[in-house]
Amino acid sequence: MLIDSHAHLEMPEFRRDLEQVIQRAEESDVGYIFTVGTEKKDWRRTLEITNSHPSIYAILGVHPHNAKEIDGETYPTLRELFRHEKVKAYGEIGLDFFRNLSPRDVQLRRFREQIGLARELRFPIVVHDREAHQETLEILKSEKAEECGGIIHCFSGDYEMAKACLEMGFYISIPGSITFKNAEGFREIVKRLPLESLLVETDAPFITPEPFRGKRNEPSYVRYTAQKVAEIKKVSFEKVAEVTTENALKVYRLKYR
Ligand SMILES: [Zn+2]
Ligand SMILES: [Zn+2]
Repeated sequence: MLIDSHAHLEMPEFRRDLEQVIQRAEESDVGYIFTVGTEKKDWRRTLEITNSHPSIYAILGVHPHNAKEIDGETYPTLRELFRHEKVKAYGEIGLDFFRNLSPRDVQLRRFREQIGLARELRFPIVVHDREAHQETLEILKSEKAEECGGIIHCFSGDYEMAKACLEMGFYISIPGSITFKNAEGFREIVKRLPLESLLVETDAPFITPEPFRGKRNEPSYVRYTAQKVAEIKKVSFEKVAEVTTENALKVYRLKYR
């Protein structure tokens, strides 16, 4: 069994054929999918999907792209939604200094605030970091993120950053880009990280692994990422499936069905 630790099933890319997408995931032994609602308008839809599928769980929060939309209702709404039993983590939160869809100072402030809320609610966090490695690490440290722990999703930092995150008790989630031809540097980092600290994810509909690069991504493709991790670490596919599943269940505090 595999777990897709991070996907966006509520996005419009899946509106047409969501049930088939979920069915293909089940047929590919993807036992659980964690779907992430990244902004207020998506949270209800995210929960609807988890309500009608026993193997799908929710992650809710405000993405750095949407940080500028946070208003007086945002946190009270999230507090309410976090009472729902299918919600398993707070995210994705963090910094995106590549696209800068929210001003940087707003992203920094909202990231700090949301770590605080996650700690208060006692949920692990899912961190998005794009071209903001130094700032992400500093904030995780200064906001005592080790108290809630969580996942650095779509990891793109260097080995030193990975090590610092592991020391804080975080897991590193590997996306489909590990299969890309030009990802040699990334593969070198993953080679040095213990399997016990890794998860696999699709971030579907984005970052489609080879051999489907260029098409829409979906949870059933998480196996290509796991396969690549197995190759890099010279262990069996089954071993990667087993350990990454255990890791995901641990960080999201779930038991086997
Ligand atoms: Zn992300
Ligand atoms: Zn995402």
